[in-house]
Amino acid sequence: MNEHDSETIAGMLREKGYEKVNAAKDANIVIFNTCSIRENADKRFFGTLGQLKKKKEQEKDGFVVCVCGCMAQQQHIIDTIKQKYSWVDVIFGTHNIHELPELLDNLYNEKKKQISVYPDRDGIVEGLPCERLYKHKSYVNIMYGCNNFCTYCIVPYTRGRERSRKPEDIVNEVKNLVADGVVEIMLLGQNVNSYKGEFSDGTGCDFTDLIYLLNDIEGLERIRFMTSHPKDLSDKLINAFRDCKKLCHYFHLPVQAGSSKVLKEMNRRYTREHYLELVRKLREAAPDIAISTDIIVGFPGETEDEFLETLELCKEVRYDSAFTFLYSVRKGTPAEKREDQVPEAVKHDRFNRLCDVINEISCEKNAEYVGTVQNVLVEGPSKRNSKTYGGRTDTFKLVNFIGSKELIGKTVKVRITGSNTFSLEGEIIND
Ligand code: SAH
Ligand code: SF4
Repeated sequence: MNEHDSETIAGMLREKGYEKVNAAKDANIVIFNTCSIRENADKRFFGTLGQLKKKKEQEKDGFVVCVCGCMAQQQHIIDTIKQKYSWVDVIFGTHNIHELPELLDNLYNEKKKQISVYPDRDGIVEGLPCERLYKHKSYVNIMYGCNNFCTYCIVPYTRGRERSRKPEDIVNEVKNLVADGVVEIMLLGQNVNSYKGEFSDGTGCDFTDLIYLLNDIEGLERIRFMTSHPKDLSDKLINAFRDCKKLCHYFHLPVQAGSSKVLKEMNRRYTREHYLELVRKLREAAPDIAISTDIIVGFPGETEDEFLETLELCKEVRYDSAFTFLYSVRKGTPAEKREDQVPEAVKHDRFNRLCDVINEISCEKNAEYVGTVQNVLVEGPSKRNSKTYGGRTDTFKLVNFIGSKELIGKTVKVRITGSNTFSLEGEIIND
């Protein structure tokens, strides 16, 4: 979500005549798009921001520093910036991105700090420019905000309530992207399963209806989406994996914990059993589907036995991959107030044990690909070796192979010759 917001910000700056430079030291304007999901991100942000103080003192009005993103939505962060980093020129929230050009004009004209942060906002601003990271693939926001209030999470407070875009607007955006060379889209939302679009004539459109509409767009090859909440994952969506050829066989389904008691305290509103049933149905509809997840260890009150339930669940589901997180206390969330916080050392120990299990399974799952032939959408050269190119299978596995520039954005057939924990190796088959 933040990455896509950054693309929008870059697009707006480009329209204003700015150009991208590689290092902050060469820039006339620096914008921090912040994340507040865990404390680490908070800390890193303030550290990096502090490093710009000297440049600001030297270059004064010739150098503009802006802060936006989820952290900018929190009053205590705004107060800290005002007190300790008073040289920051512009602060704008996640609901105010579209105002950036105006805020910069005001800053230059009025020579005065600009702060624009709405606590919450209903509307959606359409038609903002975007500077895509890739020519052949694109993010597409279908909704904003979150209504779920998981007890550990700051997102509903920083990104506001759920708002869905109109299906026509999404379809038109995707058609324009396809006309511009995009073959793969990633639909974005905090909980795409609860997308509730409405056509201009008032008819409703749920997430699966939207997938069917997009599946019909000529020239589009792959549809991905992120993120899904298990409580809203319908049979209708699961069935779409049978019907929609362009829907990639990859599902990111955050479980967060393997114990129904912990899930209840997290306010996730599903049980371990329900989650396992969803996984079973997904595999029934698409046997080759890759499944990944998010897991938090050390949620307040989590016992060793409850943690073992998470380990067992991972072994049962056999995830292709997982994002694992140490529980991080977030100011203003219900879990912050709990007195039974898990000691750091225990959290770290559980985290390491979980990663071992996840990595072992990822490694085994990747090894199953060796000897198969995969359709790989080529993304670009690898950072380490210019002859090696990387691309993704339908199931989102990263495959490295010897390739060439002309192949970027094309789908090639690759025979998988090797595997490790995080990627596959292969060779292109010329047929
Ligand atoms: N809306 C998505 C993901 C949002 S944030 C969803 O519900 O799945 C991405 C991930 O960050 C979450 O899935 C969760 O695993 C993790 N996360 C959120 N808050 C956290 C916290 N306070 N501490 C540790 N991890 C957290
Ligand atoms: Fe946070 Fe839960 Fe909303 Fe995801 S669904 S953004 S974890 S509150």
